[in-house]
Amino acid sequence: MRAEMSDFTHVRDGTLEDRSSTINVFMADPAPIIACIEKERLLQAFAKAVSDYHRMQTAQVAAVQRGEDFPFQEELAQAAEVRDRAKYAVLQHRLEHGC
Ligand SMILES: [Zn+2]
Repeated sequence: MRAEMSDFTHVRDGTLEDRSSTINVFMADPAPIIACIEKERLLQAFAKAVSDYHRMQTAQVAAVQRGEDFPFQEELAQAAEVRDRAKYAVLQHRLEHGC
């Protein structure tokens, strides 16, 4: 059985209030089910964008530690823009598609 958002209304501060039904829902299927191909694509794009940004940031830190003067500023700004666009695409999809 897949957990729906309405199942989580019983949860507050990590405490299960409706122990008879809610616990079973949690235990039955802890892994999220991604049924929408477009959402899957958007999440993968977001993950890649975050990873690219992080790699660029790590390269900059290494360069600064070698005594260079904060290189990759332009590339970092572009990577941050790609990451933010990917994030807003996920949020927009949630609004339009409900998933
Ligand atoms: Zn969707």
